[in-house]
Amino acid sequence: HIFEEEMLRKKLSNTIMDLKGNIRVFCRVRPLVLDDSTKMPSTSYPISIEARGRGVDLSYNGQNKSYMFDHVFTHEASQQEIFVEIEELVQSALDGYKVCIFAYGQTGSGKTYTMMGRSNDLEHKGLIPRSLEHIFQTGQSLLPHGWVYTIKVSILEIYNDKIRDLLSMDRLVGGKKFLIQHIPKGNTTVSDLTIVEVHSVEEASSLLHKATQRRSVGRTQMNQHSSRSHFVFTLRISGVHETTKKQVDGILNLIDLAGNERLSKSKSTGDQRKETTEINSSLLCLSNVITALSRKCGHVPFRDSKLTYLLQPCLAGDSKTLMFVNISSDPSSASESFTSLEFARNVNACGIGIPQRQTKMLPSDSP
Ligand code: ADP
Ligand code: MG
Repeated sequence: HIFEEEMLRKKLSNTIMDLKGNIRVFCRVRPLVLDDSTKMPSTSYPISIEARGRGVDLSYNGQNKSYMFDHVFTHEASQQEIFVEIEELVQSALDGYKVCIFAYGQTGSGKTYTMMGRSNDLEHKGLIPRSLEHIFQTGQSLLPHGWVYTIKVSILEIYNDKIRDLLSMDRLVGGKKFLIQHIPKGNTTVSDLTIVEVHSVEEASSLLHKATQRRSVGRTQMNQHSSRSHFVFTLRISGVHETTKKQVDGILNLIDLAGNERLSKSKSTGDQRKETTEINSSLLCLSNVITALSRKCGHVPFRDSKLTYLLQPCLAGDSKTLMFVNISSDPSSASESFTSLEFARNVNACGIGIPQRQTKMLPSDSP
């Protein structure tokens, strides 16, 4: 029986092998929503965004640009269709992998919708609640095979390059330093950060709910609830096999990045201007890190931002990274969509192209 388990584990590792160490980029185009019709296009040039196959065509400022990604989801793609494409990646955290999934895009492009979905709406549930369900269900189904999992949650935001603990009521009280330290076995600790062991989807969801309510929201002219911070949801997943005592330690980071606004468009001044500058520099740093990793550069500038320093162990080595680039099909967002697609093209150039989807594994095929 133990031999069989080992064989299954090997099979899973091989399947996931080709996903390791490579960044994938998925593009998601969001549909027009009611609010869009009231805004005037920001440009007099005709613009159009068309998604076909793995490509996106953008006509903007009299130029035609084409982009290719590992996957393109049109405005018709449902939350379920998206989850089907990433559930294997999520599941690999149970097998000891370090996984990061980012949502990148301007404010209003659908990042939070992709990550969180709409609360109290089952059909529109996003990637975080779906991942929680999947992790707990799969963990349960592995119990009869001798695997016992411990799952811990931490939720933080990075605002103006400072960490805020979203699971602590007194996160704004001084004295907490939130120092990031990299410890052996490729893990990270953050001093003073609240880490809670959870035993059910419900427990984890209630923490998630609390955290999202505490997230910083600002009021730029782009969107009155625009999120100005990077939201980092982390599951630390440890599994031990009862008989073999074999241990696996995986991490799943699900990150709703701050909007990549342009200073001129968000008309921000003072504090908001500082925010926008900080956000843009940390996003640039993320892109630099990804590029340096893919080019196998000796120096990777992880330390240039809190976000990349925090995620260093999960971005380097054998980890798996997926970036959703969210763009809006709304014409008034054309210039931001252009910026996002250009950013994504750089990031995507780092990958080697996604292999065809593997045959779906049953949970019992896991560790
Ligand atoms: P962001 O987090 O990037 O600022 P949101 O996720 O808040 O953007 O999306 C802006 C609005 O568009 C929200 O009302 C959201 O519900 C809606 N929306 C975004 N993506 C989709 C989608 N794929 N399908 C339907 N509505 C969407
Ligand atoms: Mg948002």
